[in-house]
Amino acid sequence: MCFIDPVECIDCDACEAACPVGAIFRDSDVPNEASGFTELNALWFSDKTAARQQVASFADSSSSVL
Ligand code: SF4
Repeated sequence: MCFIDPVECIDCDACEAACPVGAIFRDSDVPNEASGFTELNALWFSDKTAARQQVASFADSSSSVL
């Protein structure tokens, strides 16, 4: 899983256009069903341990942020 620092990002859209699977959105354009990923992405930059635990919990359960 890749993360984008929401503080450093300048919203140039280069990565959104380059992503082969359409998984990158401006924070203002994230689909509602994927909104949980915005919080997880930001969490990575404040608490990597918590972010890793959250990702692991997704993998270990049938629940999802979607
Ligand atoms: S939009 Fe993507 S490529 Fe542009 S600054 Fe933000 S993360 Fe980097």
